[in-house]
Amino acid sequence: MKDGESKYAYKKKTAWELFSKPQITTAFTFAEGYKTFLNEAKTEREAIHVIAEVAKKEKKKIVVNQEKSAAIVIKGKKPVRDGLRIVISHIDSPRLDLKQVPLFQDSESHLALFETHYYGGIKKFQWVVIPLALHGVIVKKDGKKITFTLGEDDLDPVFSVPDLLPHLSHDVQDNKKIDEAIKAESLDIVIGSLPARGDFKEKIKAAILEKLHAEYDITEEDFISAELEAVPAFKARDMGFDRSLVGAYGQDDRICAYAALQAILDVKNPEHTVLSLFVDKEEIGSEGNASAQATSFLRFLIREQDANVDIDSVLVKSKVISADVSSAVTPNYTDVFELKNASSLGSGVVMSKYTGHGGKYSANDASAEYIAEIRALLDKAKVPWQTGELGKVDKGGGGTVAKYFSRLGMEVVDLGAPVLSMHSPYEVASKADLYASYLAYLAFFKS
Ligand code: MN
Ligand code: MN
Repeated sequence: MKDGESKYAYKKKTAWELFSKPQITTAFTFAEGYKTFLNEAKTEREAIHVIAEVAKKEKKKIVVNQEKSAAIVIKGKKPVRDGLRIVISHIDSPRLDLKQVPLFQDSESHLALFETHYYGGIKKFQWVVIPLALHGVIVKKDGKKITFTLGEDDLDPVFSVPDLLPHLSHDVQDNKKIDEAIKAESLDIVIGSLPARGDFKEKIKAAILEKLHAEYDITEEDFISAELEAVPAFKARDMGFDRSLVGAYGQDDRICAYAALQAILDVKNPEHTVLSLFVDKEEIGSEGNASAQATSFLRFLIREQDANVDIDSVLVKSKVISADVSSAVTPNYTDVFELKNASSLGSGVVMSKYTGHGGKYSANDASAEYIAEIRALLDKAKVPWQTGELGKVDKGGGGTVAKYFSRLGMEVVDLGAPVLSMHSPYEVASKADLYASYLAYLAFFKS
């Protein structure tokens, strides 16, 4: 190792080897709370609800926007005009959303089903034949809001998208390209099969509606003003003989959200005013009024701290970590990664100078100056970290919220945990990277 070179940086050692024995124990304990969070926060609304509950319990100031985004703020020793330290993560994950008119009875199969429209980037074949739970809200015309969760309790029924048996799939699926084998419009969820008594049409649908009305006070028309999401009914579990990994739905990006939440809870008297921002709709391009592009929320938060401050000048002086996951090198598919610049599970939090796709399009390309600052910060705090690029150049790409914040004049860099099987119903992350992410955000908040 050359003088001044980091022993914490990528590929010299894994995070497990860099951590002390007590740190490894702490990393395992830390993951217990994380798994509970994943189980309780499977939708954006649930995540915001859990985060708000935790913040209130810990007596931290939290501002919630639209039930879908929120910020925890801690005033710094320095005035707000000196700029903020912001960690932003997103709390939405890919899933199947119910359409506005979802319920129908299929006369050939004698089943009642829900129509769905998938949310975010999914590989459709991964979402059939798995147990699904329904989560969300139904808002009635009079404004009454019904919160709905079904499929999580062991005694609850679950739901599922059926698939064709292999004996008959030769022509319609097996000889097709994998992304054409399952059509978006065939991602219908089976919800029942028991017909009502009597002599009329669509008796299964009628029986389901009767049940929904009796048990939840929902009518067919109420689905129009509902947000119901079908998510995997799996619980977060330890993975591997050594329990070093976590298998769960929605780790993009709740792994960073959880690490950022725990970090800001542990900050005492920071130098700068610190803000942990949790946003929605990252998976569909950060559109909408609770997303990273809805920067009026950030302006509101700054004004709340100091009504007389020049907001643009505060933004320019602020520093941001875009806390989002990165793709971990995947066994059997290493060809799509340029391994010197790829990240791997268990090697620490991943710093990505840029995201985007071929030719750095749509990327926030963080400045060398800012990267140097973050490098120094991570090394000083002894945080295991690595660099990461999503995959080989021109092999694909993806973005984060980083670019929406850098547009405001802030320094922004992507720093988050690597994830395996990203956007699948069962993503895999390392307990070491979760803990390293927490340590990284904590060091940043303290800077
Ligand atoms: Mn993400
Ligand atoms: Mn994503």
